[in-house]
Amino acid sequence: MIDNNAAKLLLQRADALAAISEDPDLLVRRSLTPAMRRAQDLMASWFREAGLAVREDALGNLIGRLEGTDPGAGVFLLGSHLDTVRDAGKYDGPLGILTALAVVERLRTSGHRLPFALEILAFTDEEGLRFHTSYFGSSAMAGEFHPEWLTMTDSEGISMAEALRAYGGDPDAVASCARMAREVRGYCEVHIEQGPVLEACGLPVGVVTGIAGQDRATVTLVGTPGHAGTVPMALRHDALCAAAEWILAVEGQAWAPEGVVATVGQAEVRPGASNVIPGEVTLSLDLRHQDDGIRRQAAEDLQLEATEIATRRGVVVHWQPIQSSAAVPCDPDLIDGLAQAIAECGYPLCKLASGAGHDAVPLSSLTWVAMLFVRCAGGISHNPAESITASDAGAAIDVLYRFILGQAMDVNG
Ligand SMILES: [Zn+2]
Repeated sequence: MIDNNAAKLLLQRADALAAISEDPDLLVRRSLTPAMRRAQDLMASWFREAGLAVREDALGNLIGRLEGTDPGAGVFLLGSHLDTVRDAGKYDGPLGILTALAVVERLRTSGHRLPFALEILAFTDEEGLRFHTSYFGSSAMAGEFHPEWLTMTDSEGISMAEALRAYGGDPDAVASCARMAREVRGYCEVHIEQGPVLEACGLPVGVVTGIAGQDRATVTLVGTPGHAGTVPMALRHDALCAAAEWILAVEGQAWAPEGVVATVGQAEVRPGASNVIPGEVTLSLDLRHQDDGIRRQAAEDLQLEATEIATRRGVVVHWQPIQSSAAVPCDPDLIDGLAQAIAECGYPLCKLASGAGHDAVPLSSLTWVAMLFVRCAGGISHNPAESITASDAGAAIDVLYRFILGQAMDVNG
């Protein structure tokens, strides 16, 4: 049953957090800044009021813990990140922490005791805005922190180690952030969808099946520059025309295998003059799918397509892979648990893949992960227009609460 007061309180808390920013004109809260300190302290005060034991690890992740009745039953993790992008919305990150907090408060009022401990994690960095390294908070918990990250600097030349010391953390003790896999029962993150699927389906929440793998590549097409007035059309090797044909092929390919998304987001034309035939074009490619095999096949097809177009047009193509990350499947048992909770709440089930990365990615190397998406207005995110309704927030609390009770039933048999 949706608790309207809990939902309203969640939105009020999201408003209060959104008022804590490094910039008075827009919301930006980078890791290890004074604004993050204030946001974390506010969150910590809510954690304490809810009866959680609060601590901060060496890297500045905030952790609130509710002990269970069986010390041998381990801990279930909930949470999300407290940092933001520049000119952010209110819910990307905080929603997952605040939903978990609402669940703890509901457990308290209902008098339910869980066998396992429950922890709410508020990660210090997911967006990677300050040091250009995403997920460093959750990576440390998963034991995947790279010590060289401490030397990375922000735009003012301050290293992560220096920022961490000023924040009250301890760069020499980052290894202590790592959690022991055998104690952890799983991780579930509530997050706004950041896309339009749930809105199109008319549903408040959906279960994430997995987080898409991603390929990034730089594609350079080299033709022959020439005078825009003297070279006849039939004798041209226009790199931009070849690029245009290939970009449309990317769009076509992306629709072909179900669920593939592909984007050319950058294009650089040289020499870039209105009266010169383009001699060289550099394009970016971003390709994602939750099945690594389908993604690899799509990348291969696009590379072949580029070669075919280039050859036909007398243009040379260079394909440079930039990054490749494997898909992260969500745990089938946890997916079933969320589906069960959604059914108990009376909503139809929608399963969807996440095209964006989340803290669940690094945590998947520590434990089983699951995610619940919440409908966001217009699918808009990473933007101040990011918006959810109180009733959808209430639905998310209700589903996560029932999911946690379901996990407890599994322990009790
Ligand atoms: Zn996020």
